[in-house]
Amino acid sequence: MIEDACRISVVIPLFNEEEGLAELHRRLVDVLSPMEGGFEIIFVDDGSTDNSFEVLRGIHQKTPNVRVLRLRRNVGKAAALSVGFRNSRGDIILTLDADLQDVPEEIPRLLAKIDEGYDLVSGWKVHRQDSWLKTAPSWLFNRVTNFLSGTHLHDINCGFKAYRKEVIREICLYGELHRYIPVQAAWRGYRVGEVEVVHASRRYGRSKYGPHRFYRGFFDLLTVLFLTRYFRRPLHFFGMLGSIFLTGGLAINLYITYLRFRHGHIMERYPLLFLGVLLMVVGIQLVTTGFLGEMITSMHNESDDIIRERLE
Ligand code: UDP
Ligand code: MG
Repeated sequence: MIEDACRISVVIPLFNEEEGLAELHRRLVDVLSPMEGGFEIIFVDDGSTDNSFEVLRGIHQKTPNVRVLRLRRNVGKAAALSVGFRNSRGDIILTLDADLQDVPEEIPRLLAKIDEGYDLVSGWKVHRQDSWLKTAPSWLFNRVTNFLSGTHLHDINCGFKAYRKEVIREICLYGELHRYIPVQAAWRGYRVGEVEVVHASRRYGRSKYGPHRFYRGFFDLLTVLFLTRYFRRPLHFFGMLGSIFLTGGLAINLYITYLRFRHGHIMERYPLLFLGVLLMVVGIQLVTTGFLGEMITSMHNESDDIIRERLE
């Protein structure tokens, strides 16, 4: 049995990780037991096809403070994390990978940083134990993301993180958006910090992600940038783009009209005419989309989540 509230929730998404689970659980308990306030460990079995769930059932029966959420099918790490988050009861939520690459003994260092006043603390795998096929794209990913989003983290996508519960309530997580949690948090005004952590190599099973992830990841970055920067003012984005198109189209069509009056015909400028008409139509559509966006946004009442502290 677990008491209703506790200080720390550890959320662990896993997909086919049967070999390492028992050791992971044992080491987590060793680290968490001495801490005050109580803890819970939430394993989210992301539709594993191996024995992972049976192993977890065994752990759950034998030891307290463990909860297991088995998903109906493999939905991916972001969605699995989000299920774990919604079901967590702690004031501080920790996430780590199930493959023992994130070392549970580093948890106190993440928590210490949270106590310093940070809302989100991300691990930074300084000496990363993966092949260059992963580290090289990851280096590029961090550079591009930092540049576009204005964050300053060395290891944005590290699975080892600690959050205050307010942060995870506000984050949008589906598909593969877990990579951009720090970007989303920073944009919402949370204090985001990082701590160097030890990284171990994968001893069992194999990695679930290949280099292809960064190709898809780029579109995810666009989504996040859009949601964070323009979510509350869609018309600024669509309106600006639409006005550029509209102005271009209008200029072209005025020129065509001028030709018609000056020479009696448009001097074979048919392709230009089409371009002008096209630009105007697309421009009007973009502006309209912006208005629709504004209508949708205005239906969501502004929340008080933006308040950091109150003195009343
Ligand atoms: N994972 C998951 N669902 C998936 C893929 C991965 O829950 O569809 C988990 C996986 O079991 C591990 C974590 O996400 O706990 C990170 O995956 P992995 O170790 O394969 O990634 P890498 O460390 O190679 O980047
Ligand atoms: Mg791993």
